[in-house]
Amino acid sequence: MRSEAIPLPSAVPGVQPSLSVQRFGAAGARPRFHLQASIHADEIPAMLAVHHLRRRLNALEQAGAIAGEIVLVPVANPIGLGQQLLGTPIGRFDFATGANFNRHFPDPMALLDPGLAARLGGDEARNVAAIRDALEAAVAAVPATTPAEHLKRALLSLAIGADVVLDMHCDSEAVMHFYTLPGLAEPFAPLAALLGVRAMLLADESGDHPFDEACSRPWPLLRAAHPGSPIPLACQSATIEFRGEGDVDHALAAADAEALIAYMTLRGAVRGPAPVIPPPRCAPTPLAASEPLVAPVPGIVVFRRAPGDAVAAGDVIADIVDPVTGTETPVACVSSGVFYARTNLRFLGAGGRLGKIAGTTLVRTGKLLSP
Ligand SMILES: [Zn+2]
Repeated sequence: MRSEAIPLPSAVPGVQPSLSVQRFGAAGARPRFHLQASIHADEIPAMLAVHHLRRRLNALEQAGAIAGEIVLVPVANPIGLGQQLLGTPIGRFDFATGANFNRHFPDPMALLDPGLAARLGGDEARNVAAIRDALEAAVAAVPATTPAEHLKRALLSLAIGADVVLDMHCDSEAVMHFYTLPGLAEPFAPLAALLGVRAMLLADESGDHPFDEACSRPWPLLRAAHPGSPIPLACQSATIEFRGEGDVDHALAAADAEALIAYMTLRGAVRGPAPVIPPPRCAPTPLAASEPLVAPVPGIVVFRRAPGDAVAAGDVIADIVDPVTGTETPVACVSSGVFYARTNLRFLGAGGRLGKIAGTTLVRTGKLLSP
C-alpha cells in the first residue's frame, strides 16, 4: 500500500488538514478503481467496509494479486467529520455555508478544452485517452477558495480518470441500496447482486450534481455530442448506501469487503478465480419512481413497516401520534415496491421526511435527491 496525504487549506493558521489516499497495485495500471467512504462524514458503515477492504487488499498485494490499480479514500470528508454540535456529529452539511458536501460538484464539462473534438476519431481507446486527459485538465482548472471547494476538487481529480468509482455512503435506517446512471445498470448488476442490494435507483440526472454524476456523466454527454466517434461509458460511477447509520458491524463490513473484492476480480483489477455471482435481490427501478413519504402533521413517529419490507399501494407505513390530542394519523404509500430507507428520528414536524419506497411508477420530476 502506498499512502499519500493531499494537503487541504488551513481553516486555522498553523493547522494543516489533509486528505488521506491509499493506493494498491502499480501506478497507472488498469482497470483503476476509486473507492471513497463517507463524503457525508458521519456515515460510519462505509468507513468500516473500507477498513475491512484495505486489510484484504494488503493481503492480496502481498500475494501479487493486484492486477489493476485500486485507490482508497478512507475518510472522504475530514472537514465534516470534525463538525459536532453539542456532542452530535453533523457532517452532511458544511457548517461554514450550509451546503451539502455531496452536491454542486464542479462540472468538468464546463471547462473542457474545445480542442478535444478535433482529437476524437474512429479509435475507441484513443478517444478514451484523449477524453480522460481533457477531463483531468478541466478538473485541475476548477477554481477553489474555501476548504470545501478544495476538498471537492481533490476528490474529483482523484476519481475522474478511474474506470470504476464507488462513492460509499449510508442512509439513516436502511437496507443496502444503490444509485447510478441507467446506462450503468448492466455493468453494475454483478456488484449489486454481490452486495445484496435491495433497491437500485436509476437516473440520467438526479439534480444538484452529486459526486458520482460529476465523474460519470461527461461520457454519455460526449457520446451524444460526437455520434461519429466511438465513446464508451469509460468512468462507471455509483453511489452506494451501506445500510443505515447504526449498521456498524464487523461481520457485515467483512462481507461487504468480500463482495467488493469479488467485483474487482470480475472486472480484472484483482487476480483470482471468477467469482460466483448470486441472483439479484431486486430489479433496477427509476429514481423518479422513488416515493418520499412525509409526515403530514407533527408528532410521534411509530413505524409499522421496517426497511426492506415489500409494500403495496395503500399500505400504512407509519402512524403519527399527536401526544396532546391522542390523534393517530396513518401515513400510507401510493407506490408498490420496497420500503428501502426510513428516518431514525421518532418525532417529526409537519413535512418531515419519514422514508422512501422504491416503486416502479414515476411519481416525481425535477430534483430527485434529498436536500
Ligand atoms: Zn451520504
